[in-house]
Amino acid sequence: MARLVMKFGGTSVANLDRIRNVAQRVKREVEAGHEVAVVVSAMAGTTNQLVGWCQELSPLHDAREYDAVVATGEQVTAGLTAIALQSIGVDARSWMGWQIAVETDGQHGKARINDIEGDELIDRMKSGQVPVVAGFQGIGPDNRVTTLGRGGSDTSAVALAAALKADRCDIYTDVDGIYTTDPRIVAKARKLAKITYEEMLELASVGAKVLQTRSVELAMKERVRVQVLSSFSDAPGTMVVDEDEIVEQEIVAGIAYSRDEAKVTVRRVPDKPGIAAAIFVPLAQANINVDMIVQNVAEDGTTDMTFTVGKTDLALAQSCLETVRNDIGYAEISTDMDVAKLSVVGVGMRSHAGVAGTMFKTLADRGINIQVISTSEIKVSVLIAAEYTELAVRALHSAYELDA
Ligand code: ASP
Ligand code: MG
Repeated sequence: MARLVMKFGGTSVANLDRIRNVAQRVKREVEAGHEVAVVVSAMAGTTNQLVGWCQELSPLHDAREYDAVVATGEQVTAGLTAIALQSIGVDARSWMGWQIAVETDGQHGKARINDIEGDELIDRMKSGQVPVVAGFQGIGPDNRVTTLGRGGSDTSAVALAAALKADRCDIYTDVDGIYTTDPRIVAKARKLAKITYEEMLELASVGAKVLQTRSVELAMKERVRVQVLSSFSDAPGTMVVDEDEIVEQEIVAGIAYSRDEAKVTVRRVPDKPGIAAAIFVPLAQANINVDMIVQNVAEDGTTDMTFTVGKTDLALAQSCLETVRNDIGYAEISTDMDVAKLSVVGVGMRSHAGVAGTMFKTLADRGINIQVISTSEIKVSVLIAAEYTELAVRALHSAYELDA
């Protein structure tokens, strides 16, 4: 007998038939003798609609009210899933974030979980009841509903699995695992049986949208065993595990791309100590994540600073830089939305040279210009014109011999 957290994403609870299907899957695990807690997302499309309504009324709306609105999607699916379970004879009860409580910090719209009180749910699971938890939401220090950022119900599930000391956290989604790259672009993409936390973290943070980045960070920190699998098939999924559990490690595990970033160039900033701080500290204070950064060498005492931010943060980043224009003393800011970031990821890079070289050569052979480069121990990322994304991903997938 095991203790499981089963998390179902938006497409898995998109309508009543799918919620019935979810209930059957949960019932199967309960009947196999497992203790089960369920975490649900909102029905597919619901959160987008709720976010859209907030933006339509006021582009710079109050984040506390945004949370009050967007958290409702998960309340609906938690209640419906509990009803579906009860109607097939499974004892179930819905739980909102504030009832458990899932305590978060006060960053409305992108809150972080500080603590989850697990005892009550554990007692109920022991007595055979299935808690159905609304993902994505918690309660802040101001006693108001918070949400965890888009895709946040993955993080709810992993955090709950840690709090409940679950043996595994199964993330049911519309793909049946983690692939070497997006199968919609590369037909020869392969499903991985296992992937390391670190690789998954890099892939998630560079655009492989299967898991929210923060959920992987948390799984790695809390050593939660995560499985990604489909709620529409019985195929085994991909296990996210420690490096020592993987016997035959490939050099490159996967290739990801993201069209979610925009490029910002601050032109002709004085080349002197403190300039990077003058640009990036205000952005950090506005809670804007900066990803890739390049600074050119100075020629006439000034330099250009180029970096990327999330497209949704671009307007805020621009207004932020306008307000510190006089302190920094730059000539102008230019932006480019038509960019894509490609990343090649693999823990094998630590011990093998030449991965970056292969990437640059492959892109050069296709005449694709590289605008920005960044690297980590297990990742090489480049920024290119968005129009070449698919061509580049296919070429790299073959170049690293990942084709099935
Ligand atoms: N419903 C939320 C979203 O669409 C949270 C989630 O599904 O993970 O972002
Ligand atoms: Mg999701």
